[in-house]
Amino acid sequence: MTQHKRLVLTGPVEVRREVLDAQTAPMIGHRGADFADLFARLQEKLKAAFLTQDRVFVMGSSGTGLWEGASRNCIRDDKPVLHLVGGAFSERWAQISEANGKTVDVLAVPWGEAHTPELVAASLKQKQYDAVCFVHNETSTGVTNPVEQIAATVREASDETLILVDTVSGFVGAELRFDAWGLDVALTSSQKAFALPPGLSFAAVSDRALARAEQVSRRGYYFDFVEIEKSLKKHNTPSTPPISLMYAADKQLDDILAEGLEARWARHLTLRDMSEEWATANGFGLFAQAGYRSPTLTAVDNRQKGIDVNAMAAFMDGRGFVMDKGYGKIKGETFRIGHMGDMSIGTLEEVLDGLSAFLKA
Ligand SMILES: *Cc1c(COP(=O)(O)O)cnc(C)c1O
Repeated sequence: MTQHKRLVLTGPVEVRREVLDAQTAPMIGHRGADFADLFARLQEKLKAAFLTQDRVFVMGSSGTGLWEGASRNCIRDDKPVLHLVGGAFSERWAQISEANGKTVDVLAVPWGEAHTPELVAASLKQKQYDAVCFVHNETSTGVTNPVEQIAATVREASDETLILVDTVSGFVGAELRFDAWGLDVALTSSQKAFALPPGLSFAAVSDRALARAEQVSRRGYYFDFVEIEKSLKKHNTPSTPPISLMYAADKQLDDILAEGLEARWARHLTLRDMSEEWATANGFGLFAQAGYRSPTLTAVDNRQKGIDVNAMAAFMDGRGFVMDKGYGKIKGETFRIGHMGDMSIGTLEEVLDGLSAFLKA
């Protein structure tokens, strides 16, 4: 294998050696007592990480799977859903709801802008929705949406409307409080701010969301929330789980909870501030609207300065880093500095020094 280059991507992110090594523990059968212990242990730690007393589903899939699961289980066939769209990922989730036969209304804002509670309130006055789906941290644009305020707005409008949140690149990097903010589903993947290898997805699920699932006739099979809940109560899963990845999650959650959620959120804010300072000091703009800039990644606006992002990435490769070159329709016009997961301040300093050296070269 060629020399490892550290990932400065927005997913997958760099995974620490100890976490990778945790995967090599001996295999166990998932219908035995050892697995039940592992699963119960994971459950308690995940509840602490989501700040919930409800349950957290663990699936062998990427986050996309639970997007589909949330849409299928939480939206009735004859009722509309409102999707808040402002970037590539929020757009894709709306497409997934449509692909599953749901009636989708989209509330769009220009890429780089956040959804304000006022905008959402105006849409909710027009129609009764079964659910509002939105993205906590829009990875394509570097925007963090005001989840707490949007959730409060939805709940004020109706008791029936479920609040479904994608926190794939936010979870344990940007503040999210499942119970206190009254969320119904918060889903994430393993390979982003969670800093695990790809292959697991997680969702905190409220009682209200489960009650809705029971009213939906065709929930599908793999992501049937009712079946997953039945198994979870017995510390088990309906089908064979990715046990090695769960070992890694068990270890990583220990370390996340030892760092402390608040300390972890604060570290990410420091990383964000460092990245923003570097960008503005070097003549770049910031793509995301002020006041809503992500703690876990910085989308550098390259439209004025127009550096060659391929040359930048090649230069950084020589320094041992894999850099992002922007995503979707804003690729090249932006590039993103991923500073999520277990990235230290020292590592980000090395990254920014490298980027400065590129600009001088
Ligand atoms: C990466 C990403 C997804 C998709 O997750 P996968 O694990 O790649 O399926 C969804 N939402 C956001 C915000 C993302 O960044």
